[in-house]
Amino acid sequence: MPRNTKIVATLGPASSDRATLRRLLAAGVDVVRLNFSHGRHDDHRARIALLRELLPEFADRTIGFLADLQGPKIRVGKLAEGKTLLVPGQAYILDAACQLGDGERVGLDYPELVREVAAGDVLLLDDGRLVFDVEDVRGQEVRCRVRVGGMLSNNKGVNRQGGGLSAPALTAKDMDDIVVAAELGVDYVAVSFPKSGADIELARRLLRAAGSDARLIAKIERAEAIPALEEILDAADGIMVARGDLAVEVGDAAVPALQKRMIRLAREKNKLTITATQMMESMIASPVPTRAEVSDVANAVLDGSDAVMLSAETASGQFPVETVEAMARTCIEAEKSAEVRLDHEMLDRVFDRIDQSVAMAAIWTAHHLKVKAIAALTQSGATTLWMSRLNCGVPIYALTPELRTRYRLSLYRNVSPLSIVTEGKDRETLLLEAERLLLAKGVVQPGDLIALTVGEPIGQPGGSNTLKIVKVGAAVA
Ligand code: PGA
Ligand code: MN
Repeated sequence: MPRNTKIVATLGPASSDRATLRRLLAAGVDVVRLNFSHGRHDDHRARIALLRELLPEFADRTIGFLADLQGPKIRVGKLAEGKTLLVPGQAYILDAACQLGDGERVGLDYPELVREVAAGDVLLLDDGRLVFDVEDVRGQEVRCRVRVGGMLSNNKGVNRQGGGLSAPALTAKDMDDIVVAAELGVDYVAVSFPKSGADIELARRLLRAAGSDARLIAKIERAEAIPALEEILDAADGIMVARGDLAVEVGDAAVPALQKRMIRLAREKNKLTITATQMMESMIASPVPTRAEVSDVANAVLDGSDAVMLSAETASGQFPVETVEAMARTCIEAEKSAEVRLDHEMLDRVFDRIDQSVAMAAIWTAHHLKVKAIAALTQSGATTLWMSRLNCGVPIYALTPELRTRYRLSLYRNVSPLSIVTEGKDRETLLLEAERLLLAKGVVQPGDLIALTVGEPIGQPGGSNTLKIVKVGAAVA
């Protein structure tokens, strides 16, 4: 059985040389994340070029690319000494006019902040490690009192407790980065800090104008995104449970329940989910995870995440390969323990699409007949998306002639993408070929049952209209 839950790994200085990249891919990375908050365009270009050189060595795998836009993350500027120690009770100023900070004040990369905060607001810096109470706003200065102190270093993030800062979701930098993401041919683009469906639609328009067919992942990391979750899900192809910023805005204790609710809702709406941030945080500096981290990853798998994500662990940690290995074995064990049960609410729905009904019929049949594998001949991948929203306990193989579809499927839970040539072949020939392919891969043995779906005319998206159950046997030999 292949691992069902996909692993997204962020690349950075610790994972950009050929040898490490090769070991990361071998350890099981399914989707590579380029974090546009860090690094220059040429760094991302170089990583992608190196990856494309390595991919032929992993020809039986499907490794997708995700570009993650920085979004309007508000950050303090640089400090003369790189950092400063702040103690509780001291005064400190966020000063939009300050160029180089010190022990008294620091600059801001979002000068509008001074117009959006007021006395009484609570600001959280560095993912909540430092807490400031705003006492007064005067001119370009936000005058604060340090409530929780600590070391403040260059370019740390600033959030307001409760959210509500109005920075638009796409900055000028994001718009440039979208063009680069299109140039790099990425499969997914993640939009940071969206507040509405319109933010996602704007990103999609810009991407399409830049010539990209990338799918969109909305990062849920603002307080305002929670009440807008349904419309954001409708506009996006998937969401990221971006627990880092989300915890700062809504309070850490609220995040676990939100994670479960978001994943459930996303699956109901046939959308993808990535659970992210601090999943194996201690492995930045340790070769083994904590028990709590293993439980967190396992619980994200049991919640139904399509993918679990690594950030600093693989981008700048000391044990990137060990982290992916630890995550992979945790996923596999968690999947074994997951109760296989079809969601009746989902199955009882009325479908108005033939292809969707065929997909659901395949899942229902596969579950009840104990078939060994489901194989879907698919053009757009939609059939396998519907199938993978239910936990049927049977691996799904997506056989597609479309390379773009194959790479997009890298993120889908319980879907293993494979390439197949369909041109000039009729339905029976293709079904036979699918059977042979699974046999050759060792997925099935003679005598096993396979649930196959296919559409006609061949090569047309949305055409799945046939479910065939075959017993692997004589016809293939
Ligand atoms: P980031 O997003 O890593 O880009 O900040 C994820 C999060 O906020 O959890
Ligand atoms: Mn974030």
